[in-house]
Amino acid sequence: MNIRKTLSQVSLKDIDIQSKRVSMVMLKIKEAMLAPLAKKQPPKFSSSDISSLCGIDKAKLAYRLLRGDLPGGLVEGSRRVWSLVDAQAWVADYRSQFKRPKNATGLTITVANFKGGVAKTTTAVTLAQGLSLKGYKVLVIDLDPQGSATTLFGFIPDVDVQREHTALTLFEGEEEMIDSAIRPTYWSGIDLVGAAPMLFSAEFALPARQIKNPDFEFWKVLELGLDTARRNYDAIIIDTPPALSYVTINALFAAEGVVMPLPPNALDFASSSQFWDLFSDLSKQLYQNRDEDKTFDFIDVLLSRVETNDSASSIVRQWIIEAYGDKVLPIEIPKTSVAVAASTEFGTIYDIPKGTLSSKTYIRAKDAYDRFCTLVDEQIQSVWQNQVEEVNDYIQKIDV
Ligand code: ADP
Ligand code: MG
Repeated sequence: MNIRKTLSQVSLKDIDIQSKRVSMVMLKIKEAMLAPLAKKQPPKFSSSDISSLCGIDKAKLAYRLLRGDLPGGLVEGSRRVWSLVDAQAWVADYRSQFKRPKNATGLTITVANFKGGVAKTTTAVTLAQGLSLKGYKVLVIDLDPQGSATTLFGFIPDVDVQREHTALTLFEGEEEMIDSAIRPTYWSGIDLVGAAPMLFSAEFALPARQIKNPDFEFWKVLELGLDTARRNYDAIIIDTPPALSYVTINALFAAEGVVMPLPPNALDFASSSQFWDLFSDLSKQLYQNRDEDKTFDFIDVLLSRVETNDSASSIVRQWIIEAYGDKVLPIEIPKTSVAVAASTEFGTIYDIPKGTLSSKTYIRAKDAYDRFCTLVDEQIQSVWQNQVEEVNDYIQKIDV
């Protein structure tokens, strides 16, 4: 059998044709995927989902249903299902003590690692959804010109994202705040600043602005531009490109929290060491040498895409723990077919219904993400508590 590929030359014109052809296929996929409503649909929630989101047992849920003051959902066959908005009404009621205190601001969490394929985008979008299911109002900012997070929200970067929907207007200095780029998504409670290839221009715009005006601080554009968003959202989750770009630097220094997804394999571990080298160099250049400081409220290393039966990964896991100590979150995200299946549907584990795949694998994957989101939630709650205490101390001082 001849298994050789026939040689065929490719002209620049062919490349153009190729590019149009992939775009066409992408559009067809989108249409088929989003049919019949041409818009991505949020998931539905069962009574056991509502129970676990609210932290109540089935009996309590049944009792509360009888009272009739919260949405009763719809009866579909023999089961009751709730829409996302209705599920969020239950969460708002049962988790009201976890709401952001009046004197606290929304927290910015940047998901970063200079390497591609380590699950940055999956982590960012899943975290946004998980926090939203805990009652947070969330803004997702996609800063990767490839727009993968944008795609997970059902927008095709090349087709559905215009310049004014991206952070480019902020980076180019046309806007001072990110607000005009924000739009709602299919997921109530999560808004998005999208990304598309044109966002790459920020890599030229930021250094050009710096050269033109030596007082300009290119690394603070996003931090300053999030001022109003910090008041309007409980959490701002930023997805970054796999590079130490001007935009990534902005995302790192705008953050109160950083999450670094890290699969336990030797190459990813080695590359993470370069990340910290560069991060530390930048911190010196941009902050310490100017007598400025910056404190992150938390930096988490999240073991991602972990292959359970792989002995090599348990060795690298030891290296990671030795190198990162208590920054390593006490939980790991397993590499599962569920995650792969979810992403071929352009969604995450929180988008796909339970029955679609082997329930054991589904539960294992979803439990891991739930626990990750709970760990981040707990850290945010602690930061808010500290902020409130600081404000109270300050008020007491000026009272005296
Ligand atoms: P990055 O943003 O770092 O490039 P992605 O989030 O796009 O990484 O993930 C890279 C690939 O790995 C995607 O195809 C994604 O679906 C897949 N992936 C992410 N997490 C898992 C997981 N837990 N199990 C299996 N595949 C995963
Ligand atoms: Mg990505």
